[in-house]
Amino acid sequence: MTQLQALTPEFNWNTYLHGIGLQDLNSLNVATPVFFLGMNTLIQEQDMDAWKSYLRWNVVHAAAPFLSTAFVDANFDFYGKTLLGQKENQARWKRCTTLTDRAMGEAVGQDWVAQHFPPSSKQSMQRMVTALETAMKKDIAGLPWMTPATKQQADEKLDQIRNKIGYPEKWRDYSKLVVEPNQLVANVERANAFELQHQLHKINKPVDEKEWGMTPPTVNAYYNPSMNDINFPAGILQPPFFDPTKDAAINYGAIGVVIGHEMTHGFDDEGSQYDGKGNLRMWWSPEDRKAFDQRTACEVKEYNGFETAPGTHLNGKLTLGENTADNGGLRLAYQALMETLKAEGSQAMDQKVDGYTPAQQFFISYGQIWCSKQTDASMRVSAKVDPHSIGKWRINGVVRNSEDFGKAFGCTKGQPMMPADACRVW
Ligand SMILES: [Zn+2]
Repeated sequence: MTQLQALTPEFNWNTYLHGIGLQDLNSLNVATPVFFLGMNTLIQEQDMDAWKSYLRWNVVHAAAPFLSTAFVDANFDFYGKTLLGQKENQARWKRCTTLTDRAMGEAVGQDWVAQHFPPSSKQSMQRMVTALETAMKKDIAGLPWMTPATKQQADEKLDQIRNKIGYPEKWRDYSKLVVEPNQLVANVERANAFELQHQLHKINKPVDEKEWGMTPPTVNAYYNPSMNDINFPAGILQPPFFDPTKDAAINYGAIGVVIGHEMTHGFDDEGSQYDGKGNLRMWWSPEDRKAFDQRTACEVKEYNGFETAPGTHLNGKLTLGENTADNGGLRLAYQALMETLKAEGSQAMDQKVDGYTPAQQFFISYGQIWCSKQTDASMRVSAKVDPHSIGKWRINGVVRNSEDFGKAFGCTKGQPMMPADACRVW
């Protein structure tokens, strides 16, 4: 605390921390000292009136989407229209459901899970996760560039990954959150304060390994390096990502790749710096780390070359972790599908649907999950700030690195979708 105060003499931390309800803090981790140095300089340079205006503006800006139509429209006019090229604002009911989900997602999510996520879906997901884990074990064992000692470490980390599927075992208690009809802005403020207190209460308590960082209806998934867990909310376990009535090839090409993607995050440029217990610890030998860095450098260069909107390119470094996860995820899911079909017998391997082999169905399914429509303006913003590549390159950038894709569709080496200089990390 003394060090932090010395870093920013212009800002009274005691007053601030007491203000948000935090007493007796002995120490904290300042992960980005440069930010606080910059903040201190700005406080010195700008006069108090400028700060007051700026902070007032921030309050209004944050509340704008929940105020009257004039505020909502003015806010959308810049952040939607100008910045992202959106023609019209999202329907009001969609904005309302998103807001409610964000404020008390584990309350409203319970009904949603009961209606849309049967136990059978959880079981088939569990089976696919196991198949993906087996594929990754095999993948690590066969890596040509990694020494046995580091392989063993990677294997141990893989064994320690926890899987969370669908929804939390224990639901969050919202009984202390006050919600009043006709008080939208106040409800949002109370929900924000409620969430802040929830986070602050974790200090000095044991880590809750069962907690979720996404609500059940969310169409997304995540890997958390400090927990070493992969999380799949029920929202993503719906078509087109997951459909229990469809063939294995379709599901492995969609949710299978997502499972592989999250697992690979444990071994991308950031995740690989944490061990199986979620601690920041270098478990790599220096030469293996060097070989890993050479392989990720190939991906950085490759993705730097992909154009998004005319004249704008992806940032290979910013998107590296996601690209590594996309490429690894596709490879692992394909392997898992082949093993699954093999176990079912040779007939399953050749079973065509609408004229497509299982391998072709797998890649078509993968293409469909990231098929999307984006304005040029929004693609420019994505290229600058989003650690994910845009949909087009999440598909084409990944399958061109996959020999299995080339083989499935009869490409020959050297063609654009099967280049000779393809990259591979995992
Ligand atoms: Zn990701």
